[in-house]
Amino acid sequence: TQAQQKFVYDFTEGNKDLKDLLGGKGANLAEMTNLGLPVPPGFTITTDACRVYLESGEEPLALRDEVTAHLEALEATMGKKLGQADNPLLVSVRSGAKFSMPGMMDTVLNIGLSDASVAGLAAQAGDERFAWDSYRRLIQMFGKTVLGVDGDLFEEALDEAKQAKGVTVDVDLDAADLKRLVTRFKEIVARETGRDFPQQPREQMDLAVRAVFDSWNGERAKLYRRQERIPGDLGTAVNICSMVFGNLGPDSGTGVAFTRDPASGQQGVYGDYLQNAQGEDVVAGIRNTVPLADLEQIDKASYDQLMQIMETLETHYKDLCDIEFTIERGKLWMLQTRVGKRTAGAAFRIATQLVDQGLIDEAEALQRVTGGQLAQLMFPRFDEAAATELLGRGIAASPGAAVGKAVFDSYTAVKWSRSGERVILIRRETNPDDLNGMIAAEGILTSRGGKTSHAAVVARGMGKTCVCGAEELEVDTKQRRMTVADGSVIEEGDLISIDGSTGKVYRGEVPVVPSPVVEYFEGRMHAGADDADELVKAVHRIMAYADRVRRLRVRANADNAEDAGRARRFGAQGIGLCRTEHMFLGERREMVERLILADTDEERDEALGALLPLQKADFVELFEAMDGLPVTVRLLDPPLHEFLPDITELSVRVALAEARKDGNENDLRLLQAVHKLHEQNPMLGLRGVRLGLVIPGLFAMQVRAIAEAAAERRNANGDPRAEIMIPLVGTVQELEIVREEAEQVIAEVEQARGVDLKLTLGTMIELPRAALTAGQIAESADFFSFGTNDLTQTVWGFSRDDVEASFFTAYLEKGIFGVSPFETIDRDGVGSLVRSAAQAGRATRPDLKLGVCGEHGGDPESVHFFHEVGLDYVSCSPFRIPVARLEAGRAAT
Ligand code: ADP
Ligand code: MG
Ligand code: MG
Repeated sequence: TQAQQKFVYDFTEGNKDLKDLLGGKGANLAEMTNLGLPVPPGFTITTDACRVYLESGEEPLALRDEVTAHLEALEATMGKKLGQADNPLLVSVRSGAKFSMPGMMDTVLNIGLSDASVAGLAAQAGDERFAWDSYRRLIQMFGKTVLGVDGDLFEEALDEAKQAKGVTVDVDLDAADLKRLVTRFKEIVARETGRDFPQQPREQMDLAVRAVFDSWNGERAKLYRRQERIPGDLGTAVNICSMVFGNLGPDSGTGVAFTRDPASGQQGVYGDYLQNAQGEDVVAGIRNTVPLADLEQIDKASYDQLMQIMETLETHYKDLCDIEFTIERGKLWMLQTRVGKRTAGAAFRIATQLVDQGLIDEAEALQRVTGGQLAQLMFPRFDEAAATELLGRGIAASPGAAVGKAVFDSYTAVKWSRSGERVILIRRETNPDDLNGMIAAEGILTSRGGKTSHAAVVARGMGKTCVCGAEELEVDTKQRRMTVADGSVIEEGDLISIDGSTGKVYRGEVPVVPSPVVEYFEGRMHAGADDADELVKAVHRIMAYADRVRRLRVRANADNAEDAGRARRFGAQGIGLCRTEHMFLGERREMVERLILADTDEERDEALGALLPLQKADFVELFEAMDGLPVTVRLLDPPLHEFLPDITELSVRVALAEARKDGNENDLRLLQAVHKLHEQNPMLGLRGVRLGLVIPGLFAMQVRAIAEAAAERRNANGDPRAEIMIPLVGTVQELEIVREEAEQVIAEVEQARGVDLKLTLGTMIELPRAALTAGQIAESADFFSFGTNDLTQTVWGFSRDDVEASFFTAYLEKGIFGVSPFETIDRDGVGSLVRSAAQAGRATRPDLKLGVCGEHGGDPESVHFFHEVGLDYVSCSPFRIPVARLEAGRAAT
């Protein structure tokens, strides 16, 4: 109950592990205090008190007395009383939640100053100017953050005072100027709030504490929490800290420092210092700071002590820390520390440096880096300094830096790239017809659609750079040009550069710097080499450790030998998804047309017969590239109309031909077929296993191609390990029929070639019914591969291609989800089906192999989930493999 709860902790009572209760700032102030570091005494009001206030609208009853008791103890320690006229104690009131959050209330310094105590402060410090400067800062900060007065009003008054005096910096205002400014500030407060600036020290403090509590529910803080998935009911702590003054003359000052370089991880002296300044002046850029190293000249004793303290902190926290400090007349005070933010590269380097220093072990090092950071390190970057003209900005949909000539249709993209040109495909939005152009292009730029639009999803899958939804760019595919906001135009053939990590689009060719980490994964750079990049060495060590400890295997989604080769170099332990539909594009599309148009068995068999050797050749290459490793081949999945011409285009063509009276028989038949195949919901229509069941011979042809390719590899002394996967199964009966047919084909091939192919046959689990009846389906499946893309679509009832544009942004803004369920697996819904299906499958067949081949296979958070539910492997696009390996390692430690 409230009466027994302790709402206030002295800095000497807390420690760094009490972040939930004391917030990050309070917990670390306590930790430093207990380490014997010079922290100005103070106390922390707990998040419990904040929660009571937020729930009831009143501070807890006991709080007032507890604060009084701690304040009195503080006053006794300091030998002065809060705001006492002749010798005032001043304090800062500082917010501090568990997670640092933009939008929370700013700190108010110099609480306790008033008309009565300002003279006392002047006498105490022997410096009248300082006292008035502190007072005007109090009114300014208090007015703005506690009383809600527009901060510009104070800034303007300050500027006027400087102008009147003909000076440019605040330090040139003297006591008299500042005294006048205080009067002006008090007038502003009175005018804007209808009340006088509070003169009672305790009232100032209480109002400030309450304002910190209230700021927890500020709009910006709420939005930030939803986006970052920080629970809304944590509340914030409030720190009351006795003031120390960096604005007491040239032997005083304030600074920030890092225990190592947050950009590179290098040990050394990193930070900024500003003489004769208070609090935020350093970061506010009011005057020029000096590099921290200069402090050695300014105040050697404080500098040496600071270096000592930084070492203490690093050894204690076993990590890079950032620090705020103030020097008051030659005495150093520590005002804040926390484990510091760092760049992706520094994260890897620092983790291995700390291992070498014996501060952390390898398991801990693995926790100090993330797959997201590794992904960042893998993309080439533009040298932004060399960029000339920024054309606009879209959504950073798939990272990378791509340069090429602007093209506005798939055909030109393919044609130009064949003749050796680099191209950027620019479309309003993309559809499956653009696939060849997307493959041919260096990068893709669209003016419509968001992070889960077709362009974004496909590009991410291909590891291709993509900027989508660049709405200020007007794309005119007919005229083959794009108009920029300022009216200038990019014509077909003009060079542009797009940055998929920032969403920026530039005119011309911006130079790129390749990622050494990719060079390393590609085998073009060796971590053991003497001149190897420090970053590469660090990545190498951490990856090796992740590989040693992970349980999940990592496979690649790859459809051709080239991707398979890269996947292998990147550490793939097999292919988890080979999509055969990509083998039906290009010139082969015509054969598929013939298959679809076939009227008789003969015509159909002929079309299939023509496809067979081509498919087989594809598989031979793939099995060779992945020799000795499993390759899961998925039989044809997409609706057939995707292989046919667009219905409108075709209708126009037929109509025009008819008008000219030179009708083309084939086009007419095609149009009929297109009409026949047209579906309202193709995603839920004739596709996957359903195709195999209604088009006689189609799956048999594919199975034969796989079996023959495997036999050929076997006869060439290879070690092909093919797994045949049936998509979109909803019931075990479908699978049984397909299995029976497949086994017959395989037996024929084995007999003819005299080999035992050891082919396995399994299914995707991508429909809710399949997941719900997984126990039955497992009777006929050697393996399950969770198709979490389709499963997410069907479980949520979301059409992935549509929802992004229509309402996902609203959902994300309202915080319904923090991240699209297509990016990170929805644990509670889709994930729970995966979990139960895995269990049911294994109950039927304990040796059932389980994997996942949706986009989620390369998503860090999802990898952890798949580890938890006991899958055997994840499969993802080749470029995501290192990320998946790393996260699988992190999940296992
Ligand atoms: P933030 O979370 O925005 O960093 P802080 O509470 O750390 O806010 O305070 C803002 C600035 O005021 C920092 O530069 C800090 O060092 C300084 N500051 C806070 N409390 C005191 C104090 N008691 N004495 C002197 N400076 C202080
Ligand atoms: Mg701070
Ligand atoms: Mg699917």
